[in-house]
Amino acid sequence: MMNFADHTNGQTEQKRKKVGMFMRLLQGLRRRKTVFVVALTVLAGFSQACAPQLSPQDSCNFVMSGDSQRVSWGPATPVVLYVDSSVPSEFYGAIQAAVVTWNQSLGREVLKIGGWTNSYPSERQDGVNVIYFNRNWPETQKRKQAVTTIWWAGDRVYEADISVNGNPAHYEYFWGSNVIPGRVDFESLLLHELGHVLGLEHPHVEAAGTVMARELQNGFLRRTPTPGDVADLKCEY
Ligand SMILES: [Zn+2]
Repeated sequence: MMNFADHTNGQTEQKRKKVGMFMRLLQGLRRRKTVFVVALTVLAGFSQACAPQLSPQDSCNFVMSGDSQRVSWGPATPVVLYVDSSVPSEFYGAIQAAVVTWNQSLGREVLKIGGWTNSYPSERQDGVNVIYFNRNWPETQKRKQAVTTIWWAGDRVYEADISVNGNPAHYEYFWGSNVIPGRVDFESLLLHELGHVLGLEHPHVEAAGTVMARELQNGFLRRTPTPGDVADLKCEY
């Protein structure tokens, strides 16, 4: 289960926060037998030591800053993401479809694909938002379908990267209208990861049908956000 108890005490709690995230990940892994994990990595935010005291916000299932504020891109939208050349070109349409789904759900453009890139070879913080396909995904992480990493300062995200498990020994994918049993729907996966890009966490309580649910089963289509998913995002966008 996620809880935000260790997200609330600011800068001095960074180490505890990382340990807390790790423990929750371990607990999550132990909780499942058939594990299909879509993961979120949240990296350090920086609180301002002399900032005025802010009233705590409702999380709306967002990552929360040390000052109990929702972490988002705020007015800095659309968030432009580039697709690394490691991503098979036939997946481009599924990525674009997931982007369009969020934009249409919110009634405005919050996400945008800038095109292909090969200028940012790995998912480190480099000032550009990139979607990668990692064929050398480590065995120790093989239950994860993807990891989205966000970087923020204060309560504003300034970079996000999505890395998809492209190791065919772990997962294979399908796209388009024909479901392939035993494979993961790439569009559903990207819709989820793009929710993380915008700042959403896995929900504390998974409402039926939420695209932000922690697990995505093989052969399952989850291409439409629930009204609750959209309401969460509308807390910030
Ligand atoms: Zn996730």
